[in-house]
Amino acid sequence: MDEFDFVVLGAGSGGMAAARRAAAHGARVALIEARRVGGTCVNAGCVPKKIMFNAANVAEMLGDASGFGFRAERGKVDWAGLKERRDQYVERLNGIYAKNLERDRVAYVAGRGRIVKPGCVEVNGRQLLAPHVLIATGGYPIVPTIPGAQLGITSNGFFELEEQPRNVAVVGAGYIGVELSGILRLLGSKVTLFSRYDDVITHFDPMLRAHLMEALAEVGIDVLRKAEPQRVSRTENGTLRVCSHDGREVDGFDALLWAVGRAPASEGLGLETLGVNTNERGFVVVDGYQNTNVKGVYAVGDVTGNHALTPVAIAAGRRLADRLFGGQPGSRLEYDQVPTVVFSHPPVATVGLTEQEAIDAHGPDQIKVYSTRFTNIYYAVTDRKPKTSMKLVVAGKDEKVVGIHVIGLGADELIQGFAVAMRCGATKRDFDRTIAIHPTAAEELVTLR
Ligand SMILES: Cc1cc2nc3c(=O)[nH]c(=O)nc-3n(C[C@H](O)[C@H](O)[C@H](O)COP(=O)(O)OP(=O)(O)OC[C@H]3O[C@@H](n4cnc5c(N)ncnc54)[C@H](O)[C@@H]3O)c2cc1C
Repeated sequence: MDEFDFVVLGAGSGGMAAARRAAAHGARVALIEARRVGGTCVNAGCVPKKIMFNAANVAEMLGDASGFGFRAERGKVDWAGLKERRDQYVERLNGIYAKNLERDRVAYVAGRGRIVKPGCVEVNGRQLLAPHVLIATGGYPIVPTIPGAQLGITSNGFFELEEQPRNVAVVGAGYIGVELSGILRLLGSKVTLFSRYDDVITHFDPMLRAHLMEALAEVGIDVLRKAEPQRVSRTENGTLRVCSHDGREVDGFDALLWAVGRAPASEGLGLETLGVNTNERGFVVVDGYQNTNVKGVYAVGDVTGNHALTPVAIAAGRRLADRLFGGQPGSRLEYDQVPTVVFSHPPVATVGLTEQEAIDAHGPDQIKVYSTRFTNIYYAVTDRKPKTSMKLVVAGKDEKVVGIHVIGLGADELIQGFAVAMRCGATKRDFDRTIAIHPTAAEELVTLR
């Protein structure tokens, strides 16, 4: 039997962060991982996705090159070569992560862990004992239970594709659906995006949604609105046919990508036996300090269903470790004002409340909106002239900034600094007093009237 202070299940964003921070506080830590160190973000999420997003940006820029006086053609991407270099980069990260754990003296255990009783985790027939156990097992992509669903792949399968699909059906209009649609389209695939709603990224401010719908059409993504696939079949010529609930049928696809949400990896962990509460969708229920209802058992990250984002999982993991082992009893993560980016083409960036959320929270007379729509100077000499849209939502007499929404070139890089300003309680007047940086897209946010 091995004794530790902290046993962590899952070496993804949340588990790694919690384990390393606990070790830094001097705790004896074991970290169990069933698959690859780094979890979803490193192996099948943010990192490989961002490389593909950048590849799509390069394709876009090659298309713009003639405007800048270069003779360049977009050509066809060497998908296999790109994948090989991307995989090598991910492997390098796996190695760095493993070294970091070694250096921090975290005991890494490869295998699938299961909590057999309070304070006892079993892995590969070995029992690890600790007064504190963290569930950081993340989630997995959902495949619908409709006939023919197995003919499709998920985001995991997308990263395994050795060849570029020619004609793709993407089902799902959330982050992952619009991101992968944009990447595939700009790299030259034909893309049909099935949305069960009237538009896409439905949790975002309507300005962003409307603008993104225009942008998807501009890059040639065919959005099928209010379309929920009910059956997938293979046609005689080997392509896939998708039938929607309302009888619409589209065929000719050589790949179908399910991007219909993610489920928590909470099964098989022994939670029922232990009596750890999960909600109706299987997410582990935690309080504001990441405690489950069972003493000494905690959960962070995607398995809790609260903001499925890497930096959120990391922050929650670190705060928990600070509380348990760092002498900071009040340490907890505030889940408000989480900035986020959708790496669509163009990217969407947002922090704080949508206009409607601000009205609901503060009342309609307390809210004022400043907005603009313009063409980024990057497009001064290019054939295409996509727009950028920005919206600032302010509340109260002092016009405190409560929401910032941007879509357009560079939105992904500009929002982080504005999120700091918002966290510090900036008002519209503070924005006005800030000297603009010219010529940038970001300056528009401090010159709004
Ligand atoms: C395609 C895609 C793109 C994304 N892009 C972004 C992005 O751009 N920005 C962003 O912030 N977020 C992004 N995310 C989300 C981000 O990847 C997750 O929010 C983040 O990885 C959650 O971290 P986690 O620690 O909760 O879980 P994970 O990173 O999923 O780690 C959980 C780990 O636990 C392991 N595990 C599961 N069960 C067991 C067990 N019983 N024993 C041992 N180990 C176990 C798993 O193998 C896994 O490695 C993306 C996700 C996807 C799918």
